[in-house]
Amino acid sequence: MPRLYGFEDQRLSRVREPEQQVAREAVSRLLVGRQPRSEVVSWMNAEGHRGTMGGEWTNGSLGRFLANPAIAGLERDPETGELRETGRPALITRNEYEQLEALSGRTAGVAPTRDDDFPYLLSEGLTECGLCDDGMTGGRSNAGTPSYRCHDCGRVRITAAALEDYVGENALAELSRPGTREALEAAQEEIRAEAESLRQRIKTLTASRDGLVEPYAEGQVTRAVLVAADGTINEKLKDARTRLRYVEQIANAKLPFGDVEGLVRWWEHGPHASKRAVVALLFDRVRVMPARARGVRSAEDRVVLRWRTVEAA
Ligand SMILES: [Zn+2]
Repeated sequence: MPRLYGFEDQRLSRVREPEQQVAREAVSRLLVGRQPRSEVVSWMNAEGHRGTMGGEWTNGSLGRFLANPAIAGLERDPETGELRETGRPALITRNEYEQLEALSGRTAGVAPTRDDDFPYLLSEGLTECGLCDDGMTGGRSNAGTPSYRCHDCGRVRITAAALEDYVGENALAELSRPGTREALEAAQEEIRAEAESLRQRIKTLTASRDGLVEPYAEGQVTRAVLVAADGTINEKLKDARTRLRYVEQIANAKLPFGDVEGLVRWWEHGPHASKRAVVALLFDRVRVMPARARGVRSAEDRVVLRWRTVEAA
């Protein structure tokens, strides 16, 4: 993972002052100047400021940077989403960080799930609850933090940042190993075959549903039989169509090329659909275990990755 902008090292033990100045200026433009984020991004790029990988700033990269509590010397409890001090140096104050949160609607009760614009990477059947095996879906915690929560028992949850960063690190490590790309292409080929057979299945189901009308018209089956059969077929059609939508996203997504830096850049800035596809091709399931005790922080202790294409290193 690249270092966090504004800090000298991965451990965030020292501030890089020129970058801190930029971050502070950006934050005061947002908070005091009330400038829209896109305007601040234009200013940063026009001034020649670049991200840690050398790329221009984008709305998304600045948004993610400012959403990282580490810039204010804070971290989130991965389960509850509450902020707490880390004791490490900070680029901006906690108060400024909380104002930024309020500005982007990330605070408690502001953003109902319906308006949730967080691009959840791991929903749609990829993430499962370690307690009850049901799927987990993305949504805001009470504190407004993007999170994944079991939609059955509701007892397992984890912040999206903790889960996605962990999955991302592992995905990138795997992607940079020789042979992974070929394995992904083979997996994508299988997915295309599945898409094709789903299309066939949908055709067959539609035909057999239509085929019910004739015997009913001829009085060979009763209305009750027709309705029951129709219901069963529609249920199957619905499942097949849902699966097809999911599978098509993966089948058609572009796979990333390149060296480690290129892959990191892709993970930071690449199209969401491409990242989703790669995650789905790499992992069969991402299983999240309940937090054993308060203070268990790292996703590493809670997340079990079930690899699809390759054995985990
Ligand atoms: Zn559950």
